[in-house]
Amino acid sequence: MRNQRKKTGESRFEGTGVCHGVAIGRAFLVDDPRGRIVRLFLPAEQLEAEIFRFRQAVLIAQQQVQGAIERLQAALGADRAYILEAHLLLLQDRDIGQQIETFIRDNHANAEWAVRDVTATLLTLYAKITDDYLRERGSDIADVSHRLIKILSGSKIYDLNEMASGSIIVADDLLPSVTADLDPQRVLGFVTNAGGWASHTSIMARSLNLPAVVGAGDIASMVRSGETMIIDGATGTVILRPSPETLRFYTDQRERLRQQQRFDIEERELPAVTRDGVEIRLRANIELIEEIDLFQRFNAAGVGLYRSEFLYSNAANGLPTEEEQYEAYRFVAEMSGREGAVVRTFDLGGDKLHLEGYQPERNPALGLRAIRLSLAAPSIFRTQIRAILRAALHPDGHARLKILLPFVSNLDEVRTARAIIEDVARELRAEGTPHASGVPVGIMIEVPAAVILAEPLARESEFLSLGTNDLTQAMLAVDRGNQNVDQIFDPLHPAVLRAINAVAEVARHLGIPLNVCGEMASNPAQVVLLLGMGLTDLSMTPSAIPAIRRLVRSLSLDEARQLASQVLSLTTPREVHQYLAARLAGTGR
Ligand code: PEP
Ligand code: MG
Repeated sequence: MRNQRKKTGESRFEGTGVCHGVAIGRAFLVDDPRGRIVRLFLPAEQLEAEIFRFRQAVLIAQQQVQGAIERLQAALGADRAYILEAHLLLLQDRDIGQQIETFIRDNHANAEWAVRDVTATLLTLYAKITDDYLRERGSDIADVSHRLIKILSGSKIYDLNEMASGSIIVADDLLPSVTADLDPQRVLGFVTNAGGWASHTSIMARSLNLPAVVGAGDIASMVRSGETMIIDGATGTVILRPSPETLRFYTDQRERLRQQQRFDIEERELPAVTRDGVEIRLRANIELIEEIDLFQRFNAAGVGLYRSEFLYSNAANGLPTEEEQYEAYRFVAEMSGREGAVVRTFDLGGDKLHLEGYQPERNPALGLRAIRLSLAAPSIFRTQIRAILRAALHPDGHARLKILLPFVSNLDEVRTARAIIEDVARELRAEGTPHASGVPVGIMIEVPAAVILAEPLARESEFLSLGTNDLTQAMLAVDRGNQNVDQIFDPLHPAVLRAINAVAEVARHLGIPLNVCGEMASNPAQVVLLLGMGLTDLSMTPSAIPAIRRLVRSLSLDEARQLASQVLSLTTPREVHQYLAARLAGTGR
């Protein structure tokens, strides 16, 4: 049984730390990327009521399955319902029912969790059976378990912030939209079995400045809700049931980090200028308009990337209205100051969020996402463009917003999107609706095809933005959210570096603005290389700005250029890492 594997005493796990910070709190288990099956610890007096709730759910499930069997038999004949009959037998199985009830009593568990845990154990046993027919019966167990959990939880979506207040969330995986809803005032941090540094769940953790570790192995099955745990988001260390000495060490560490944060705020007004006098633009990536607060705290030079797709996760019917979008974009435009904000049109699909009505895809990162989806669903795209053009109008007459097109892989997409943008502007003009004219339109370079075609793409856009996350994923054919290949997801791979350098040369040659908005711009050692390749406009998660500002102020561009030119001559990732480690050792970078 899964719960019997759990130990007592301190134990440590290593994962990938994706957002700095130390969290010390109580574990809160969630067994569903959507945050729907949570692990509760019920008081003793509630246990019998919980068992009653479980038995009621079994009765409802039996009625549902019986009804389905009768409908199927009437439509297709007596022998066609044998799969559902197997489900009915499972629901009547006294032994499984007893196991679930015992689990509830022994572990003070809620019924959903008990069903999930007991059936998961059965599934593990079935997976080992050599007989093909019997092994396949495991899918019946999974199906029945799913039905029971659905009945038990109804349409109830738990508010993780309420449930986990003061805790560290532990899950196999979390969706970026669930992470986006976590309130850092209530949730101390999270750990997941799955995920990599550049996955959207990790990006979201950094945006919220929420300590987090991903890719932590089988942590979710090793911990019980309510146990004390520590996560160190810098090193990726997770400690369960820490000893008093460990607890003291990390409490001190947490205090040191808090002091550092106070120091960061004091330095916020210092200019981001290199020792040889070159100004570097340090902009903010934001996902939620609430983050504007962080953006101002770290004194960013405008918003370099507003990932607008996160507006779509909270909308009532899956789609935000034009007015809702207008309000959000106007707020971002107003708050981002003179430098304004770059609104990326929705990059729905991939590992992020999905539009209602579109089927989940086999290979979503390469599927109908971003600009492809915008062009396939032009009415949704037009609504977004109307809202952006209206919100971009500033009283001084200048547009305060720019439009950025994600995941472009050919010029036809850009031309079609620009034609739609022009048509929307004509429509607004004809109606007499106030809007900005001349809103710059830029292209994300994040698909290898766009690197090769950077020059023609640049000639038909007002600016470029390098998305190093998708670019690394696509160039190396490695899933950015898969912990099994996280070690080879490497923006320092020579192919990725050479691609970035090629785009930088095109931008320089054509005199077109080029920004970097992927996670590379948050990583000090990687930023040295970006600066050395001539990239002076960087957009990053707001909490990374203080460290990058310190780095910029500590180096000369000349020094960075020499380093980049050496690195660009190297041919393996290991050589690049070794060279950088040797050159940057002791410099604090
Ligand atoms: C990128 O791919 O680098 C990027 C900035 O976009 P996202 O991370 O949202 O895919
Ligand atoms: Mg991208």
